[in-house]
Amino acid sequence: MPTLKPGVVTGNDYRTLLKACKDGKYALPAVNVTGTNTVNAVLEAAAKNKSDVIIQCSNSGGAFFAGKGFPDSFEAKVIGAVAMAQHVHLLAEQYGICVVLHTDHADKKLIPWVEALMEHNEASYEQLGTPLFTSHMLDLSAEDIDFNLSECRNMLERMAKIDMSIEIELGVTGGEEDGVGSDDIDNDKLYTQPEDVLKAYEILKDIGHFSVAASFGNVHGVYKPGNVQLRPEILKNSQALVQQTFNTDENPLDLVFHGGSGSEKEKIEESLNYGIFKMNIDTDTQFAFAEGVGRYVLENQVAFQHQINPENGEPTKKKYDPRVWLRAGEETVIERLNEAFIDLKSKGKSLALNEAKSKAA
Ligand SMILES: [Zn+2]
Repeated sequence: MPTLKPGVVTGNDYRTLLKACKDGKYALPAVNVTGTNTVNAVLEAAAKNKSDVIIQCSNSGGAFFAGKGFPDSFEAKVIGAVAMAQHVHLLAEQYGICVVLHTDHADKKLIPWVEALMEHNEASYEQLGTPLFTSHMLDLSAEDIDFNLSECRNMLERMAKIDMSIEIELGVTGGEEDGVGSDDIDNDKLYTQPEDVLKAYEILKDIGHFSVAASFGNVHGVYKPGNVQLRPEILKNSQALVQQTFNTDENPLDLVFHGGSGSEKEKIEESLNYGIFKMNIDTDTQFAFAEGVGRYVLENQVAFQHQINPENGEPTKKKYDPRVWLRAGEETVIERLNEAFIDLKSKGKSLALNEAKSKAA
């Protein structure tokens, strides 16, 4: 098994990590973060599970990182995402695992957001020899396929120069996430067409590294059982078409599973056979955070209303200290991620070369 230095991985190291996932038929959870509490919970969960992990933010998650009161909202989306990335760079190595840094959905109107982040990546590359982020997503799946692929090609040309990777989307993920996505979409758009995947492979393969968010009935959000029909065989068919046409090895495409929250475990497991290396999880970790904080508040209501307990006259400071109740949210996020590392079979498989390993070698 290859080993990597712990910390944020980019370029060749990212491809090494991804290949290990696909060869080992496991995937990494990609968790959407909104602040240091969620970032740290993800790092802690990954370290405890000895798994590598993907940390990503959406444009509005980035803006939240900068602060809701930040005056210019476009600048907030950019600078907040940069702040998130810098926070992760400072800490990831200390947690002893490998971290992929990524940004989530950017539709047509958010292309300028990704372009602005690219300026930060280029500046970082110039200074340190590595980009700030490992990859960005450009989700032009709502547009015409030719427009989608030509924009992605242009972006990838820019990214490849600084060892970055792109995630594209073909077909539409159902549900809605941060205003991206749609409820009333044509049903077959919810399933990626293998011919579209072939087209993407043909256009992008020689330019740089790319991954594909393929739609196989997956949706953002958690809905009543029965509303979602996952069909992982669509992934298999896309892989097979590219493999046959270009005479490649098995599973030539690096596939991403969006909308992992609430998905049936056996469908998750099946998808791991067809080149899925990344599964996005957002809704379930959002709920986990709320659940932990909510339970704490309900159990300690007096401390959220009185600095001195009116019944016994004791100070309640130890209970309303944000470090206590925010921690309750972190702990339930970690619990939910413990489950994700098992579902995705990445538990115990970190490639990070830690002290113990190097001494043993
Ligand atoms: Zn998504």
